[in-house]
Amino acid sequence: MLKTMDEGSSSSYSGAGASGSTGSSCSTTTSHLPPANTTTASSSSLERSFAAMSVDTGSKAREAARWKYLNHIRKTKGPFNQDDEIPEDMPDPLETYKILVIGAGGLGCEMLKNLAMSGFKNIHVIDMDTIDISNLNRQFLFRKSDVGKFKASVAAEFVMKRVKGVNITPHNCKIQDFDESFYSQFQIVICGLDSIEARRWINATLVGMVDDDDPESIKPLIDGGTEGFKGQTRVVLPTVGPCIECQLDLYAPRAAVPLCTLATIPRQPEHCIEWAHIIAWEQEKPFPSLDKDDPEHITWLYDKALARAKEFNIPGVTYSLTQGTVKNIIPAIASTNAIIAGSCCLEALKLATNTAPPLGFEQNFMSYDGTEGIYTNTFQYEKKEDCPVCGNLAKPLKVDPKWKLQELLDSLATNAAAQLKKPSIRAEEKSLYMQFPPQLEELTRPNLEKSLAEDLGLVHGSEIAITDTAFPNLVFRFILQFS
Ligand SMILES: [Zn+2]
Repeated sequence: MLKTMDEGSSSSYSGAGASGSTGSSCSTTTSHLPPANTTTASSSSLERSFAAMSVDTGSKAREAARWKYLNHIRKTKGPFNQDDEIPEDMPDPLETYKILVIGAGGLGCEMLKNLAMSGFKNIHVIDMDTIDISNLNRQFLFRKSDVGKFKASVAAEFVMKRVKGVNITPHNCKIQDFDESFYSQFQIVICGLDSIEARRWINATLVGMVDDDDPESIKPLIDGGTEGFKGQTRVVLPTVGPCIECQLDLYAPRAAVPLCTLATIPRQPEHCIEWAHIIAWEQEKPFPSLDKDDPEHITWLYDKALARAKEFNIPGVTYSLTQGTVKNIIPAIASTNAIIAGSCCLEALKLATNTAPPLGFEQNFMSYDGTEGIYTNTFQYEKKEDCPVCGNLAKPLKVDPKWKLQELLDSLATNAAAQLKKPSIRAEEKSLYMQFPPQLEELTRPNLEKSLAEDLGLVHGSEIAITDTAFPNLVFRFILQFS
C-alpha cells in the first residue's frame, strides 16, 4: 500500500504543483498525515495555496535529491566545465534539448534508459521494427507479452513509466519517412543501428542540412555500433569533421563464398545454408519470392541446408544459424551493447552540458575490443576530400577496361568505398544505365552487355556519376582507373 502511494506520488506532485489542485492530492506530499480534507469545498483558499506551496517545495527537494550526484558533476568547476559561470536562470540544456534516438533495439533500449537517467527530458525514438521473441535476451525494455508490438512504442512507454518526468515520443516508421524539417528540431541525434544503409542515409541528411551561417544547423551525430565483443562510438560534427561516409571503408562487405564451393564441396554449415538460399531456392522456387522474416520460408531453407549438411557430414546447421546467415545478422552481446550505448550517452551528456570535452573535436572515434582481454583506442578519423557526402572530389575507381557495364555495376555493390546495390550510371552527360524510370531502364539496358572501353568509349580518367535510390540526394563521382 505504502509502495503504491509512493510510486503514484511523484506524478501527483507535479500535477498538484502545476495546477494548484485539490487538498486531497496535496495531502500525500505532507506525508504520513491523514488527508486534511477530502473535499475542496471545506478548505479555505489560504489552506489550499499553502498546501500547493508545500507541494512545490516538496517536489523541488525531491528533484534536487534525485539529481544530486549528476548535478554535482555538472556544477563542480573543472577545466571544461563552465556551468558555474552560467547564470541560474539560464535554461538547463537537459530540460530544453531534444534528443533523437534512432533504433530501439539492443543499443536503443540501453540508450533510452541511459538518457532518461542522465536527466534528459525530451527524447524521440524511431524504429520501424516489431518485437521478436529472440530480442528478449538483451532488449530489456520488452517482455514476452510485447512480442509483435512496435519496439519504439513499447520502449518509450516503459522508460516513461520508470523514470518520472521524461517525455519520450515514439515513431514507428522508417527514418526515410521524415524530411529535414523533422530532423532540424533536434539538438543531438544518437544512432543505435545495425544497418549501414540507414546510417549512411541519416548521415547524408544531417550533412545536407548544414547552413554555414547558422551554427544551430550542425546537429552532432553520435553513432554506436557493436559486433560480438567489439564496438565503436563516434561523434560526427557534420561538415566540421569527417562524416560516416568518409569512414565507409570500415564496413567492408562480407567476402562472398565462391559459388563453386557452395555447389560442389561445402565445408562449413554456412556453406550449406547459402547453398539452400542461393541455389536450391532458385531451382525449386517454393514460394514466389523469399521473405527473410517469414518463418515458413526460413524453415524451408533450414530443412534443405540440414539435408545437404548430412550428405557432406557437416555438423552445426540450426534454425537460428540459418536465419542469421540468410539475414546477415550480426551477433549481439548484451554487455557490449551496454558499454557502447553507455559511452554514446556520455558523449550526449558532455555535448549538452559542457561537463567534459566530448568526442568530435580533437578525437572523434573510440573503438572497443573485448575479444582478447580489453583494448580501447580513441583517435582522430580524417575527413576525406573525395567523400561523396562532405567532400568535393571524385574518388578513383579501379576497373578492367574489358569489363561489361554489368560487371562494373555488380562491382559497386561489393566495393568497400561504394556499397551501392541499385546504381544508375552516367558519364559526361550521357546515361549509361538508369534504373528508373522504366522507359529509360529499357532504353539503357542494352548497354549492360557492352564493354567499358571498346563499346562505350570510356577511357582511363573518365569521370562517371552514380546515383542510387537508397540515397536520393547523393551523387557518387568516380574517376575510372584502368588496370
Ligand atoms: Zn564525409
